[in-house]
This record gives sequence, C-alpha cells and structure tokens, in this order.
Amino acid sequence: MTPECHNAESIVRQWGRSSAVDFASFERLVIMFSCGAASAVAASMALAAAKSSGIETVVLYIDTGSEHEDNARFITDCERWLCHKITTVKSDRFADTWAVWETRRYISGILGAPCTTELKKAVGEKFRRLGDLEVYGFDSTESDRAARFAKHQPEIAMWCPLIDSRTPKRLCFYALGDAGIKLPAMYELGYRNNNCIGCPKGGAGYWNKIRRDFPPVFDRMAKLERELGAKICKVTISGERQRVSLDELPESAGRHSNEPPIVCGLFCDQGGAHDA
Ligand code: SF4
Repeated sequence: MTPECHNAESIVRQWGRSSAVDFASFERLVIMFSCGAASAVAASMALAAAKSSGIETVVLYIDTGSEHEDNARFITDCERWLCHKITTVKSDRFADTWAVWETRRYISGILGAPCTTELKKAVGEKFRRLGDLEVYGFDSTESDRAARFAKHQPEIAMWCPLIDSRTPKRLCFYALGDAGIKLPAMYELGYRNNNCIGCPKGGAGYWNKIRRDFPPVFDRMAKLERELGAKICKVTISGERQRVSLDELPESAGRHSNEPPIVCGLFCDQGGAHDA
C-alpha cells in the first residue's frame, strides 16, 4: 500500500494535548528525523501543529553512512506521508562509522563512542542556528531522558510532541502501519532501534544477532577489535563479567531481546541518548 499524504492534525487530537508552542518566538523549526518510528510520528505531529504558523520548517535526517540501505525507502515513504521533504546531512569528514573508528583508533569506551560525536553531534551542531526550535522523538516513557537532554544541552530549544501527547513508541508503530508505511528493515529483522549496523554499544546478544544477520559486519568488527586491541562485548564467565573479543564470543552468549535498547543520539556521550 502506498502511503498517502495524511491529515496529521487528527493524530495530534487523537492522542492528547499538544503543547501550545509559540512558533512566533522562533525563526526555524528543525524536526530531527532519525529513521526511527517515533521520530517519524513526532515529525507528523510537529508539522501538523506548525502548519498554519508560517515558520520555516526543516525535517532533518543525519546520515551516519552505516545505517541500513532500506532507510532510503523509508525516507521516501515518510516524505510522501508527511507531505514534506526530508533533508539529509552528513559529515564531510567521515564517510561512515568505520572511517571514524579507523581514523581515531578508538571504537567505544569510557570516552563514549566517537562515531556519535563525529557523525551525529558535530553534524547536528553545524546545522544548528540561533533561533531554532528542535523537535525530538522522545516518547511518553522517556521523560527522564528528555530532561537529561535538556539539562546537558541548555542552548537547545527543544520540543517533544510525543511526550506532550503522551504517546508511547508502540503507538508509533501502529500509526505507521495505519499509514501504509512498512517499518524500516532493522525493525523487521527484530532490532528494537534503527541504528547503524554493527553498533559498539550493543551487547553480546546483539553482536551474535549481527553475526547471523550481517556476517561481513561482524567479521570486520572482529578484525578491527584485534587491530586496535579493543573488546566491545562483556560476557559472564564463572560468575564474573569479563570483556571478550568478538572472534572469541560464544555463539550462545547473550540474548538480544533481554538487552537494554541501544541508545544513540545527539548526546549519547552524556549517558542518556535516544534513537528517536
Ligand atoms: S548508532 Fe552506534 S554506531 Fe551508530 S553513531 Fe550511534 S553509537 Fe555509533
């Protein structure tokens, strides 16, 4: 079914009270679109609420270069549904996550993940202008994360329509289904977030799933770990949590469905990011 341009206002009304955002106080509305289900529905709500305000509006996708190729299809479907172009921006220094890790000689650790900083945060900051109101897809279960985000980024004027309207992420999946939009391939494969393929924030279960779904990605990361002397996964051996190289990761280790969702976003180095 081809998604139709919809009357997005009905979604705002259906799910509750939208904030009375004073768009006249801002010069531009920037809706952060991550190719996740929640961000798509948040974009729909924000566009509906801003429709008659006349504010300049950008729906922004920050491309890391390492996400699933099906995202291009999802973006096209959402553009049709939202009746709005989605603007893609990308790092002009790094083609993808591999380029960051290989150049920085660092994958992830106590200093965070440089891929987030270079491919998302730096790109987002470059696009940002004084006078922007930014829309994020934190859902109704993520008020704490949204509050942490606001605390760490006081310079950002931020609006979360899903929290305002008390919309949980699961309803976003239904909304996309109602619109005839097939979910991004990563969800269909059983991942809870539509993040990069082969994220160092994933646990043992996630990496065993990557081994099954994307063997070349698993092999490449295992090789890179060896080259950099890094170990991104932890497993429990004889009751003790230990780091283990991917090429020594037991195929039975971890259970992806029991692991916390991977969090990545414009501020994931600060311990509370989101794939909205
Ligand atoms: S999703 Fe994972 S791999 Fe991609 S930028 Fe975020 S931390 Fe890096």
